[in-house]
Amino acid sequence: MKLDVVLEGKKRIGLAGHVRPDGDCAGSTLAVYNYIKNYYPQAEVRLYLEPIPNIFKFLSRSEEICNECSEEEEFDLFIALDCGDIQRLGKAAKYFEAAKHTFCIDHHVSNQAFAEENYIFPEASSTCELVFELMEKEKITKEIAECLYTGIVHDTGIFQYSCTSSKTMQIAGVLMDKGIDYTKIVDDTFNTKTYNQNRIMGQALLDSRLYLDGRVIVSSVTQEQMKEFDVLPKHLEGIVSQLRVTKGVEVAVFFYENEDHTYKVSLRVNGDFDAAALAMHFGGGGHVKAAGCTMEGTREEIISEIVSEIQRRI
Ligand code: 5GP
Ligand code: MN
Repeated sequence: MKLDVVLEGKKRIGLAGHVRPDGDCAGSTLAVYNYIKNYYPQAEVRLYLEPIPNIFKFLSRSEEICNECSEEEEFDLFIALDCGDIQRLGKAAKYFEAAKHTFCIDHHVSNQAFAEENYIFPEASSTCELVFELMEKEKITKEIAECLYTGIVHDTGIFQYSCTSSKTMQIAGVLMDKGIDYTKIVDDTFNTKTYNQNRIMGQALLDSRLYLDGRVIVSSVTQEQMKEFDVLPKHLEGIVSQLRVTKGVEVAVFFYENEDHTYKVSLRVNGDFDAAALAMHFGGGGHVKAAGCTMEGTREEIISEIVSEIQRRI
């Protein structure tokens, strides 16, 4: 399959990724957006995403992203990227549902192939890796390479996680040869944390507790704490990864309070435990080693529910 074949002859094209966009979501959607802008100037294209974190705003044409979905639009083609199900497209889901043709590019194991045409490979490190495969290599500009490299770096934890394959490294090599500043991308978008981000991570690590003889680690952050440390949910990225590398831990659980007092749960695992299956049990989804869901109840109830479900499965 080739992206050019899918785009051929389409006049009005819509793109969207999942709610609370991360690096792979912003990178993959902007890569395709830039590709269309460059090579299909006669097409009208819109990219819908919730506001992306500031660290990703250096990506080409990020200022053209539509945050609102208020207008009525009908697209010839709508492409969902890095999104495991229609609901996770958020407000843009209505455009997907109304589009004449739909296409999905994704790597979530929980993805049920919800589009007309699907390019879904759970073994791929990232959606950006799949987008790379679909694009003509010589048509990948430096700007597109920056988008794709950013997404790969984020979903592989800088080529560390087990989703990283030799193919991932080869693709990264091709992207490096496009002249991108790969050191800066890694430092500015992945490594650098603000002072307050480091402080709330420190607090979350201090508050963490072990369960099931140290095989499970859990921590959480409330709305009140986010106010105290002057951070937003998107600034909590990285905490669950730090919890995961605790010696002896098989499952790391981190959750934070949403404004509506539900909790957004992140799961990371070492070894054979299936995070996606656990997340799906609670109505969420994701990957085998990294997944998430939203839960209701008090912090204590949520911990008790998750820990007993892990115990059942371990
Ligand atoms: P994170 O913990 O970083 O939010 O998410 C880890 C992985 O699980 C990501 O690939 C993300 O797309 C997926 N994920 C997180 N929360 C949910 C959820 O509520 N529903 C589904 N379907 N996937 C989720
Ligand atoms: Mn992804």
